[in-house]
Amino acid sequence: MKYTPVQNYSNGQFVAAATDRTLPIISPVDGSLLSTVPLSTGTDLATAVEAAKKAFPAWSRTTIKERVQVFYRYKALLEKNLKELALLIQEENGKTYEEAVAEIEKGAELAEFACSLPQLVTGEILEVSRGVECRTEHVPLGVVASIVPFNFPSMVPNWTIPNAIALGNCMILKPSEKVPLSVGRLAELLQEAGLPPGVFNVVHGDREIVEAICDHPDIEAVSFVGSTKIAKAVYKRATGNLKRCLALGGAKNHLIVLPDAIPGMTAQNITASMAGCAGQRCMAASAMVAVGPVDHIIEKLCEEARKVVPGQNLGAVINRESKDRIEHYITEAESQGAKVLVDGRNPTVAGKENGTYVGPTVIDYVTPDMAIAREEIFGPVISIMRTNTVDEALAIENANPYGNAASVFTQNGGMARYVMDKASAGMVGVNVGVPVPREPFSFGGWNESRFGVGDITGKSSIEFWTKLKKSTTKWNPEAGINWMS
Ligand code: NAD
Repeated sequence: MKYTPVQNYSNGQFVAAATDRTLPIISPVDGSLLSTVPLSTGTDLATAVEAAKKAFPAWSRTTIKERVQVFYRYKALLEKNLKELALLIQEENGKTYEEAVAEIEKGAELAEFACSLPQLVTGEILEVSRGVECRTEHVPLGVVASIVPFNFPSMVPNWTIPNAIALGNCMILKPSEKVPLSVGRLAELLQEAGLPPGVFNVVHGDREIVEAICDHPDIEAVSFVGSTKIAKAVYKRATGNLKRCLALGGAKNHLIVLPDAIPGMTAQNITASMAGCAGQRCMAASAMVAVGPVDHIIEKLCEEARKVVPGQNLGAVINRESKDRIEHYITEAESQGAKVLVDGRNPTVAGKENGTYVGPTVIDYVTPDMAIAREEIFGPVISIMRTNTVDEALAIENANPYGNAASVFTQNGGMARYVMDKASAGMVGVNVGVPVPREPFSFGGWNESRFGVGDITGKSSIEFWTKLKKSTTKWNPEAGINWMS
């Protein structure tokens, strides 16, 4: 075992969980045992919540201008420790080193955004009657929780850590039990950046701890990022306990390709979108909806896909179960009449035979009724569906229950605008394979990709992590009494 067993982090210290239940952490890169993760219980959560509650009065009374100083230093520390963090992410998640670097850089950008919050979070003030003023301020909620998935061990935690904490809350973070190592380093960096003990705490575990978070009476708000099935369950349970909740779910992103699209650029963007992070991105292209004669673009797409090599510029998928699930979708679609143009099933990766790799896969003549067309695959697979008109393509996109991202590839501005208007997705793109809004624009899907109000990052997150206090003041006796007094 390469690392010592993972521990929870509470009150500024690593502490052993009060449980004997653990899971092994297996590297998807080569199948080696990295460590073990504890499956914490309600007792462990209680310890972390107590620490957070104790830290809250002082932290929330610290001015926001002072609180964000921690995140200036945290951003610098992410950059200083970039290489070491990237290697850890690569080991536990399986993505390539370059992809791991990109997610840390994105984390640094998220910290940078948090540093701008003092400029964005100012309240309003108005003399509403002569001598009477109303003003608003954003007040922190208290102890909040953030539950995160496996696919971005560092970036998704950083969607919530800087904003929630800079806005004055104390946080309990529940990492994915599949990739619990990177968050331990983030805790150390936050401490080094000057975050007081108890403001940020980590409790590891699985379903039991997630349910305990949703039920804990002293946790005011729960953010969740993961699959739709669990997002729904968490949203129902947390709001059933009268907490505010924002739960981001899975995705099935459609790229609509028109015949006038620039072939090389389109093929490169689609390949990068479907194969980046081994397709394990909620913004990954999963379905290409071809409108009319686009065979020349599909040919280029296959050429580009063949340049993506498992173990070189394509990372592993998270585990054996994922690999089997992804390959099953391909085999099933093939047996139903789809044509596999580039086949990524069971690639050989020399020296990493125990790694869980799936090669890039392009599969044509998929029909909308096939499981591969309807369900989230979360692997480096693009299914091509053929249509004759843009409206037919949009009908396919609109019929899918998710709504994270959609893109159109064309040189026709009017057509691009038409698709952007009609696509039922929270994040749309033109000639962009992964239309992730960068800070200060916020991240969030629609439909079954997000439950709750607002987005998880950017300005939108201010409303989620704070409550609005409205004050009315009168200092001048001459102001008198009027109908509103
Ligand atoms: P997951 O839903 O299996 O797990 C997410 C979190 O929920 C983890 O912390 C996990 O421990 C916990 N969990 C798992 N099963 C649970 C249960 N039965 N009850 C309560 N909690 C449970 O998701 P994952 O496999 O880690 O991540 C991949 C999924 O996340 C994909 O569906 C992907 O689209 C989605 N995702 C969405 C976004 C977004 O912004 N919408 C971003 C990243 C990932």
